[in-house]
Amino acid sequence: MTYDVIITGAGPAGLTAAIYCRRAGKSVLIIERSTFGGQITFSPKIENYPGFEEISGNELADRMVSQALALGAEIEVATVEGFRKEGKEYVVTADGQEFRSLSVIIAVGAAHRRLGLPGEDELVGHGISFCAVCDGAMFSGLDVAVVGGGNSAVVEAALLAETSKSVTLVQNLSFLTAEKTAAEALLARPNVRAIYDTVVDGYIAKDGVLCGLSLKNVKTGEKSELATDGAFIAIGLSPATEPFARTLPLDGYGYVLAAENCSTGRGGIFVAGDCRIKNVRQITTAVADGATAALAACNYVDGVRRGEAEILPNETLTREDEDGRSADE
Ligand SMILES: Cc1cc2nc3c(=O)[nH]c(=O)nc-3n(C[C@H](O)[C@H](O)[C@H](O)COP(=O)(O)OP(=O)(O)OC[C@H]3O[C@@H](n4cnc5c(N)ncnc54)[C@H](O)[C@@H]3O)c2cc1C
Repeated sequence: MTYDVIITGAGPAGLTAAIYCRRAGKSVLIIERSTFGGQITFSPKIENYPGFEEISGNELADRMVSQALALGAEIEVATVEGFRKEGKEYVVTADGQEFRSLSVIIAVGAAHRRLGLPGEDELVGHGISFCAVCDGAMFSGLDVAVVGGGNSAVVEAALLAETSKSVTLVQNLSFLTAEKTAAEALLARPNVRAIYDTVVDGYIAKDGVLCGLSLKNVKTGEKSELATDGAFIAIGLSPATEPFARTLPLDGYGYVLAAENCSTGRGGIFVAGDCRIKNVRQITTAVADGATAALAACNYVDGVRRGEAEILPNETLTREDEDGRSADE
């Protein structure tokens, strides 16, 4: 069978794309490697998705999945390895199988880099966070740490400093690598301090909730502990675009370059959500991309079925952000 649209990744972007494509009458296959719902399933509480004052990530994910399935989207659990073009069709390979479609929407998302320390996965959502916009309000009036010293860490720390009692940056170098003015403005705040030449080498938890960080000075080897109610890990995002490195235009960080309509510049291949270049990586922006990419893909499929040119005209790739990183990295 040749699907109209194959969607790689079942996060908010991919599921929204599936909903829009099905409502436009297109046949849809979603290929997901692990968690239906994507990154939001790691979030116990979402408070910034319109329509829900508060909802757990799992419940929001379940609702999106149910809606896509009820509309007739098909699903396959497999890891996409890449795609190739054969005539008017794309052949998507996943776990050694081949799936055919006229159009493909890449919605593989991104993952926040982690420190890789024992207990980290279990503490995500229980003291460990990656997003001050998402979770900062939960630490209002409390002491928090931000791990990292680049632009993303400074942006996170500045946001947290507005509401948290204190913010401690833990930076492995002797200085912050963030833009100088922003770093100076941050450190001038009375409730912000930085600990330099220091790495986190362990998490301290009580009853399954983070209560401190074990620190090590990389110059002296001296060990210490930092009591904290929360730790925001801000050492960057990593897009899951490796399978497409040779077939799609990526920026230096691995994000897919995209036009305003989420086209990659390759006729029939669209990209949505956290894996494309953009400035804000949130559920709202992922679902917006999903809708945009879906409607563009549907137009493309209609064009192919009518026998029109396969390559969309005048598609120019734009860099919304010169270094390809989002404000919340
Ligand atoms: C802990 C946490 C809390 C968050 N809280 C909030 C919040 O409160 N509010 C908010 O707006 N945002 C929040 N975010 C950010 C938000 O979750 C993301 O912006 C959003 O999920 C991006 O959606 P996406 O569909 O682009 O990508 P993702 O959610 O990353 O989904 C991509 C999907 O693609 C799959 N995939 C990847 N590679 C392959 C492959 N090769 N083959 C098949 N499938 C593949 C992945 O398994 C995943 O399911 C949070 C993120 C985290 C990690």
